[in-house]
Amino acid sequence: MTAPAAHIPAMTDILARIDLVGLSREELEAELKSFGLPAFRARQLWHWIYHRGATSFEAMSTIARPMQAKLEERYAVGRPEVSRAQQSLDGTSKWLLRFPDGNEIESVHIPEEDRGTLCVSSQVGCTLTCKFCHTGTQRLVRNLTAPEIVKQILVARDRLGEWPAPKDGRLVSNIVMMGMGEPLYNFDEVKKALKIVMDHEGVAISKRRITLSTAGVVPMMKRCGEEIGVNLAVSLHAVTDEVRDVIVPLNKKYPLAELIKACKAYPGANNARRITFEYVMLKGVNDSPADARALVRLIKGIPAKINLIPFNAWPGAPYECSTDEAIQAFGDIVNAAGYASPVRTPRGRDILAACGQLKSLSEKKRRGEAAHAAAP
Ligand code: SAH
Repeated sequence: MTAPAAHIPAMTDILARIDLVGLSREELEAELKSFGLPAFRARQLWHWIYHRGATSFEAMSTIARPMQAKLEERYAVGRPEVSRAQQSLDGTSKWLLRFPDGNEIESVHIPEEDRGTLCVSSQVGCTLTCKFCHTGTQRLVRNLTAPEIVKQILVARDRLGEWPAPKDGRLVSNIVMMGMGEPLYNFDEVKKALKIVMDHEGVAISKRRITLSTAGVVPMMKRCGEEIGVNLAVSLHAVTDEVRDVIVPLNKKYPLAELIKACKAYPGANNARRITFEYVMLKGVNDSPADARALVRLIKGIPAKINLIPFNAWPGAPYECSTDEAIQAFGDIVNAAGYASPVRTPRGRDILAACGQLKSLSEKKRRGEAAHAAAP
């Protein structure tokens, strides 16, 4: 038995008390009903958890003391531990969250002048092994549960002191499912989490302010549009199967022609709601003017915007970022063809919080801990 003793109290607590955070409205209602509580309690708790951000029953001041105590005995309104918080010189924050099983993930908050975006993870690690992405080098992978996804947003609001959430001028106004993991490989939990986040009487972030990014899990794209209805971003990154097979190996399963077909059929895409194609700029790999022209031909007919992402390096990365001139020239060609082609400003590079730099060291640390625990 090598389980570190430090984990035991938290686990016991979670096992003993049912955590209400991350249950859907229906689940919350059913849970409370099984405890003999009426539907209005579910509405009341929903308000406290998602609009007011309460982290204890004691804080729920419209609930009488004896009821608070009754709830406290059986339930929790939990948060994961923030095992590390870092802030970049540019104001970007990165939080490493640790779940009771010891797994860790990262979320990133990117403040901008008129809005703030939270980059949320969907998995611990990632199975996709995109060549240029740090997360893909992490071995340990599991899906996050809906509660674990929802809690990333609640933790961000806790840390930023944004409870109850204002209507306008929010620090967390937008969500991008662009953290660790492939969200369409964890469709059900991502869907459930986003439904909770979109609920008008809670966190209330509208689907127009949520973007889900996929490396191209073609069979799930239609359902994403139909059942979740958020904006879609597609990590395109190359214009030929030859190159894409290498840098986004998922392409071998779902090649470009199929991916483009699925984009054309994406429910709800129109000129007012474009699909974002992400395109990482890798020096000498995918960044020539010929690539830019091929890109324009490839996406013809799709209401689209191209997000050019300067490659963010990480320790041991096998690529270099394209030159500013190459990025500019690429963008100009795409732009001249009628597509917006903004260059994504790297944010939080100094704390490894930029696109593709996320990686939690839970595997390494746990190994270290296990070795330590086994030592005499
Ligand atoms: N699995 C999903 C969600 C991750 S989103 C997806 O692939 O879309 C993260 C975005 O950052 C993706 O577009 C990804 O390809 C891109 N990215 C990964 N590593 C990067 C790096 N080192 N520099 C710049 N962008 C990177």
